[in-house]
Amino acid sequence: MSNYVTYEDGTITDQNGKIISFGFKRFVDDICNGDNCLICGAKREDKSFNDEHVIPKWVLRYCDLFKEHIILPNTVKLRYDKYVLPCCSDCNSFYGENLENKIQPILTSPYNELKSLINEEIGRLLYVWFAFVVFKTHLKDTLLRLHQDRRKGEDKIASKYQFEWLHHLHAVVRSLYTGSKISQEAIGTFIVLNADTGNLNRPFDYRDVNGVNTGLIRIGDKALLCALDDARLSLRFLRSRLDPVLGQPLNPIQLREMLAHLTYIKKSLVNPPLFRTEYDLDEQLPTIKVTIPEDISLVEYKYEDYGAILYLCTFDMIDNLIFEEGFDIHAQVKSGKIGFTVDENYNFVRQSSPQARK
Ligand SMILES: [Zn+2]
Repeated sequence: MSNYVTYEDGTITDQNGKIISFGFKRFVDDICNGDNCLICGAKREDKSFNDEHVIPKWVLRYCDLFKEHIILPNTVKLRYDKYVLPCCSDCNSFYGENLENKIQPILTSPYNELKSLINEEIGRLLYVWFAFVVFKTHLKDTLLRLHQDRRKGEDKIASKYQFEWLHHLHAVVRSLYTGSKISQEAIGTFIVLNADTGNLNRPFDYRDVNGVNTGLIRIGDKALLCALDDARLSLRFLRSRLDPVLGQPLNPIQLREMLAHLTYIKKSLVNPPLFRTEYDLDEQLPTIKVTIPEDISLVEYKYEDYGAILYLCTFDMIDNLIFEEGFDIHAQVKSGKIGFTVDENYNFVRQSSPQARK
């Protein structure tokens, strides 16, 4: 470690002042509450800056979203092309070349060609890419007002966030820039599902569950489902939900239902994995590692707890479904006793009428 300088808050820089690892305080002060470059941490006055799009520009082009709006948690509509964060030109170019340019050909290929394109390195890059989109989404919340009405105060959407998990995501995202490693075990559950493109007015969907760190990104006929910090522990419990639908074309609400299953499982882990960054004295590079708990189990299944998550994931879509008159779709979804993906015998259903579930 002789070539590194360590600061009181745990920040580590190399001899040239490049930040290898952000201590928590510096991360909160400079990145969350400041407007330094979100990757290298440079101040605006020290470098040339341009904007980093939260949803990458190639996705906006591919999905024709430039003039579309995102609806923020404060109900404000913001155009996707204005949904940007401070980033220096060097880091913007570096991530363009080393991340976006490698991911774009993968995620614009047809679903049935993906298997032949994804290897271990691409799998890792896809995971970092997903983490980057989620990280940027929540970092942006530190800049956006919680209330449109100024009389209600100046709080930002992120005012009540716990920044610890963003700090972990930041380290994952910066691994490309610092050259640090992510141990294979530290990578989360990451599944590519087949998205049904029939009858769709929009080839894109983004939803994440803040605090549980799960998310779904749909681009064309592919949907990425991810638990960012579960060290793949959720996957072993997700199998029974996943197996009937793998390879099947899932429509938007069915994909959201899969996000609800993953989120509920992730939230139900009795002992979550613990992440840390270690320094390899020989290679002089940090590695993100994880400690897997001995007891991998879930708390007792509760339909209403699952229902609350299913509702959170689908409330904006359920009114468009076909159901019998008098059927209270909102109450049924909240009960956790219906689904949209499989029938009572766990056979995949292509239409999205609500199905009773066991
Ligand atoms: Zn930078």
